[in-house]
Amino acid sequence: MINQALIDAVEYLEKCGREIPLTLMVSLVSLGVKTVEYFQATLTRMVRNVYDGDLGGEFVNIMQDLVLGQISQAFETAWTDDGNELPPPEYIRDASQEMVREQWSHIDDFYRAIVDARVDQTGVDPLLSRVQLWANRYNEAYNMAVHLIALNTGGKEIWILGHAEEHCSSCSQLSGLVAYASEWETAQVNPQGNNLACGGWKCQCRREKTNKRRSPNALSRILDAVAGGHL
Ligand SMILES: [Zn+2]
Repeated sequence: MINQALIDAVEYLEKCGREIPLTLMVSLVSLGVKTVEYFQATLTRMVRNVYDGDLGGEFVNIMQDLVLGQISQAFETAWTDDGNELPPPEYIRDASQEMVREQWSHIDDFYRAIVDARVDQTGVDPLLSRVQLWANRYNEAYNMAVHLIALNTGGKEIWILGHAEEHCSSCSQLSGLVAYASEWETAQVNPQGNNLACGGWKCQCRREKTNKRRSPNALSRILDAVAGGHL
């Protein structure tokens, strides 16, 4: 009810061409109403505000809320997409909290980088490309949840290439590969992972649970796909 009322309010303001209050955008993300694009738009606005001197140290707290909302939502959505009822079990909640904590540990640095950029007048663009990286954590969180669910049920997963203009050598080699979740776990090779040749920042790939046959030599092929892919 409240969520729908917020969405209606925002859509009304957008239709009128009015600027959406930042607090409203933050509420929407924190409630998990909107995901990647909205997170990106909200954080972009916050970064610009800090750069322009319109937003101070409260940036850190607001961003903590955003990250918490975004990652919790990703884990819960993966759980319900798998056909389960909320709330998610403990292993999902634990992994979600661990990722939130890990992400939170970078927020101070990010804030300081924006303030430094303002002081040095180096422009806002490099900071906005970092916003995109933060936004892609939603996909990483969702994919991690899919993986944990498959791992917990002893299932298999297939790598599916995301929509992108080009794919790195790792993702291309992994495309369509089927392995047990436990093998993906052993290899520590995941969509958006930093051991992919592309570094995973913009990776749009995902994995899905599958009943397809396991690919021959799956584990060694996974490991080959990331070997030598990065420096
Ligand atoms: Zn990829």
